[in-house]
Amino acid sequence: MYAKKIVLHFPHSLVNKPILHKLSRDYELEFNILRASITPDEEGLLVLELKGDEPDYKNALEYLKKEGVKVQTLAQDVIMDEEKCTHCGVCVPMCPVLAFHVEPETKKVIFIQDECIACGVCVDICPMNAMEVKI
Ligand code: SF4
Ligand code: SF4
Repeated sequence: MYAKKIVLHFPHSLVNKPILHKLSRDYELEFNILRASITPDEEGLLVLELKGDEPDYKNALEYLKKEGVKVQTLAQDVIMDEEKCTHCGVCVPMCPVLAFHVEPETKKVIFIQDECIACGVCVDICPMNAMEVKI
């Protein structure tokens, strides 16, 4: 059994399409929804664990891409540049897995890298460009 965790970014126009149903019906994949949210620009974001046969998984990914869904595997690392972060807090409620914590006493924003699924939302919205994808 092949299993992978992926992040799907759905454009607004696809949010109501029965895409997950098709993954199980046509590609015989099992899926667990680990997280679901809507980003500030109304993109749907789903973190999934997919299980099934590898060829089915690959065909399903092709199908998703053709439908206009951006598929991201969880291999990238996102890092915080502490020197750039002003602790403005913009990223805190936007993170789908709550990887930012605000220290109650100092109001500092702490990035918990182990929680991060590298969805890229904070990278796009941070006004200081403090969140970066590590190459
Ligand atoms: S949005 Fe950027 S500057 Fe603001 S707290 Fe988050 S990482 Fe720091
Ligand atoms: S990339 Fe940013 S918004 Fe996405 S999970 Fe990691 S910390 Fe949260």
